[in-house]
Amino acid sequence: MLIVDNGNSIKYKSPFAGNVLKPLSTAGVWAFFIGGAMETYQCIVCQKELLLTEFYKEKSKKGHTHKCRSCLYEYNKIWRKENPGLFRAQREKYRKRHRENERERRELNRDIYRERSRRSYQENKQEMLKYYREYRITNKYRERARGIIKNRLKSGKIIKSNYCSVCNKSENIQAHHDDYSKPLEVIWLCASCHGLLHKGVA
Ligand SMILES: [Zn+2]
Ligand SMILES: [Zn+2]
Ligand SMILES: [Zn+2]
Repeated sequence: MLIVDNGNSIKYKSPFAGNVLKPLSTAGVWAFFIGGAMETYQCIVCQKELLLTEFYKEKSKKGHTHKCRSCLYEYNKIWRKENPGLFRAQREKYRKRHRENERERRELNRDIYRERSRRSYQENKQEMLKYYREYRITNKYRERARGIIKNRLKSGKIIKSNYCSVCNKSENIQAHHDDYSKPLEVIWLCASCHGLLHKGVA
C-alpha cells in the first residue's frame, strides 16, 4: 500500500493498480520496494507525485519544500537570471554573514590562545620562582654545612677519615652531606665516589 498525501486527505493506493508512480531517485525506488509503503508529495510545479526524498527539508509546517529538487533547481536558476541585483545582494549578505562568523570565530580562538599562553607563562614563572627559591635555600645550606666542616677540620674538632666509605680508596677524601640542614652528619667519600653519588642523585 502506498500512502499519498494530497495536502488535506491521505489516500491509500495500490502501487500495482495501473497508476504506478515513478520516483526519481534509485534510492527512492529501492526504499519503495523494500519498505512497501513510502510517503509521497505532489510537487506544485511539475505536479508529479514524488517520494519525500525528492524534496529538500525545510523548517516549515510540512517539513519539506513544495517544489521538488529538480524543479527548485530550475526555479532558482531562472530566478537568479531574472533578478541579478537581488541575487547579488543575497549573495553579498550571505558572504558578509559568513565573513562575520569567520572573524568572530578567529577572534574567539585568538582569545583562547592568548589566555592559554598567559596561563602557561604564569605557571612557568611560578615554577621558575619556586625552583630559584629552593635553589638559593639549598645553596645557602650547602655553603653553611661546608663551612662548618671546613672550620672543624681546621680546628681539629673533627678528623677526616682516611678511607672512602664506599670503595676504601685513600685519595681525595671529601665530606658528603646527605642533608645540608644537618652539617655535622657527613659521609667520607673519595672524589670519584662522591661525584658518582651526586650524579645519581641529580
Ligand atoms: Zn517538480
Ligand atoms: Zn670511593
Ligand atoms: Zn656530597
